[in-house]
Amino acid sequence: MITFTPHFSSSAGNLYTVTGGTSTIMLECGARITKIRQALNHKLSSIEACLVTHSHGDHARAAEDVIAAGVDLYCSAGTAAALCINGHHRVHIIRALEQFRVGHWTVLPFDVEHDAEEPLGFLIINGADRLLFAADTAYIRHRFAGLTHICLECNYSKRTMAEDIPLAHKLRVMRSHMGLDTVLGFLAANDLRGVRAIHLLHLSDDNSDETLFKNRVQAATGIPVYVAKRESICTR
Ligand SMILES: [Zn+2]
Ligand SMILES: [Zn+2]
Repeated sequence: MITFTPHFSSSAGNLYTVTGGTSTIMLECGARITKIRQALNHKLSSIEACLVTHSHGDHARAAEDVIAAGVDLYCSAGTAAALCINGHHRVHIIRALEQFRVGHWTVLPFDVEHDAEEPLGFLIINGADRLLFAADTAYIRHRFAGLTHICLECNYSKRTMAEDIPLAHKLRVMRSHMGLDTVLGFLAANDLRGVRAIHLLHLSDDNSDETLFKNRVQAATGIPVYVAKRESICTR
């Protein structure tokens, strides 16, 4: 049985952990290292690995500090190049659709749609548990079987998009972040029979409505939905 814990989830910073048995992996490191250490109860050195989806600061701010602390970091070549960390012995370059193992975890990275160099999402497998994690992306073109946990960006909806934001910003959000309708479409296209929890991540401060998103996804799927707070500790 695995547990997914959002620690920080917004365009200000992202940090999540997945624990299975005695092993914990970290997803993203988009906060100052002191905040990350605090969130992890100063147990950074016991983290099995850190997986990073892309190079934007809200996902990768502490990448250099994390590898300096002795944690193995997994990311695409594009992400490593953008962060200037390629070549470090703690940095492992991974590719979309090439599965790899970290301890007793199996991870399948997949390509996503975002305005960064070679961004990825992750299917994370531990025994019978299959957790899908996708942060910043306009949509997900892949389909997945046998999922037990789904953790997806749900940044905005057309209805909750603030009216006064400039058009260019609005278009950037829609081209590179996942909105409620896309989340619902993705969920409808996948087999959800084994899914025990859906986590909605990275809600926009200006363009989202936590209650509306939770209710809509819960009504569409009949599965418990949890909304990750900007800064939160919630374990499921
Ligand atoms: Zn982001
Ligand atoms: Zn981003």
